[in-house]
Amino acid sequence: MKTIDADVVVIGGGSTGAGVVRDAAMRGYKTVLIERADLAQGTSGRFHGLLHSGGRYVVSDPESATECAEENVILKRIQADAIEATGGLFVTTSADSEDFADGYEEACVNARVPVEEISLREAFKREPLLDPGLKRAFAVEDGTVDGWKLVWGAARSAELYGATILTYHSVTKIDHKDGQVSAVYCLDRRTGETVRVGCSFVLSCAGPWGGEIAAMAGCHDVEVVPGAGIMIAMNHRLTQSVLNRCIYPADGDILVPAHPVCIIGTTDHKAGNADILPIPQDQVQQMLDAGEEMIPGFRKSRAIHAWAGARPLVKDSRVSAEDTRHMARGMQIIDHKERDGVSGFLTIAGGKLTTYRLMAERIVDAMCEQMGDKRECRTADEAVPGSTDHRLYTLDRRLNQVETETEAPSGQQIICECELVTRKKLLEVMDGLTDFNLDDVRRQVRLGMGPCQGGFCSSRAAGIAHELENVDAERASELLRNFLKNRWIGLWPILYGQQVRQTALDSWIFLGTLDLEHLPEPATEVI
Ligand SMILES: Cc1cc2nc3c(=O)[nH]c(=O)nc-3n(C[C@H](O)[C@H](O)[C@H](O)COP(=O)(O)OP(=O)(O)OC[C@H]3O[C@@H](n4cnc5c(N)ncnc54)[C@H](O)[C@@H]3O)c2cc1C
Repeated sequence: MKTIDADVVVIGGGSTGAGVVRDAAMRGYKTVLIERADLAQGTSGRFHGLLHSGGRYVVSDPESATECAEENVILKRIQADAIEATGGLFVTTSADSEDFADGYEEACVNARVPVEEISLREAFKREPLLDPGLKRAFAVEDGTVDGWKLVWGAARSAELYGATILTYHSVTKIDHKDGQVSAVYCLDRRTGETVRVGCSFVLSCAGPWGGEIAAMAGCHDVEVVPGAGIMIAMNHRLTQSVLNRCIYPADGDILVPAHPVCIIGTTDHKAGNADILPIPQDQVQQMLDAGEEMIPGFRKSRAIHAWAGARPLVKDSRVSAEDTRHMARGMQIIDHKERDGVSGFLTIAGGKLTTYRLMAERIVDAMCEQMGDKRECRTADEAVPGSTDHRLYTLDRRLNQVETETEAPSGQQIICECELVTRKKLLEVMDGLTDFNLDDVRRQVRLGMGPCQGGFCSSRAAGIAHELENVDAERASELLRNFLKNRWIGLWPILYGQQVRQTALDSWIFLGTLDLEHLPEPATEVI
């Protein structure tokens, strides 16, 4: 058995865990993060992509609204490469009553969320496709955020401070001796080897799986409720700013522009199991109808991918156990010393991706306090590596690079036309990952995430991988088949109309031209 010694183990490599490992490492603790899959493969890679201004919560949860507003400013400063400062609008459409809008500005001011009511003329100038029957519009500081870039940025920063990041390692047990945490055991899912990480503190940041992790230390009935929501990407960027309905939070009330596409969402239902999140047909239709109310003609663009994520909500005694829509979005820290008699063990849940840095600050502060070792948090002051030039990847930036770089043409060969991913970029990413699959590569460069959903780029990417020393023909076929299988999961719930035609085309390419169904089956799969 492999052993590692650390001061602190962080469980979960979503936004919260990445923020916590960065914070603890920056305060000088020897820290190990353990994630059972790739970074941000849980909720943090399956969310809506909105950097909240706070405007969504000024009435329903003003405390969360203020936290979002403050963190919005900090994240734009320290992780500019993951954020597009699009701005946002809260709009009263022809289908909405003006009651909510009447008290909206005052609620924003009370929650310290910057807001300005703008004229309808100005609103249409910013967003020409808006409902012509629009009644009111308020401008806020919403933005969009690339969850993978944000999480990887924090993790890379942590590594520079000496942290160890173990991906594809699944935590199986937490040991404690005389009521004090002593070690975390995990399974390396690629090699099958067990790893023991000796430590004196465990910070559980496992999102909707927080209850399961607590039970591994013998702390039962930690109620993190998975509040599931679906989202759908459309094949055009229909708006340049985030659009929110100016109503009490409801299903399908937000449209987020993301790179070349836009995303409508979301729903909110209690899930039985955070690992199995269905995408029901009626919810798909509900989202498309909701899009139509903000942007008439919305359904004329093509739905290209649907996915679901589970909010890690802490059970809220004010509402029923099933009512995840109205559960508070605020963060909560559970002290297992106080609750279960296990020292050196804290769980954090709730919150938003937008408030991930603040969540990390609070739980690491709580750890320092329990250790009697006060060390200051510095995460708000220092930009993460890669974001210091304050430039997000946008399509025009990638296009500019392709057109102005003077390297050999093959280096700038475009592999994914939708997201302008070049051969050079792909090779760079594959080189930096060990034992990768194409979804790991996708999360780094958005390979296959544009309108054709991998229809053309996936076989090229598998071919490029095959040029690498350690990827033989069988492995390259596995990479291709697994990638397409995972893309398919997000396609079948939205197969109707134009999407059926696109999928039929993809099917002809893969089965007819590339004879994919006769390639060898993957032996085992680690996803
Ligand atoms: C539908 C939806 C839309 C949302 N939209 C937004 C939005 O637009 N803006 C926003 O700010 N927030 C949004 N949120 C909220 C936000 O996504 C979450 O609050 C945030 O991503 C939670 O991050 P996390 O790190 O706590 O959890 P996660 O990202 O789920 O991370 C937990 C990690 O723990 C890992 N794990 C579990 N078990 C083990 C184990 N045994 N061993 C090792 N690792 C384990 C999982 O693999 C996972 O990666 C949305 C949430 C949902 C569901």
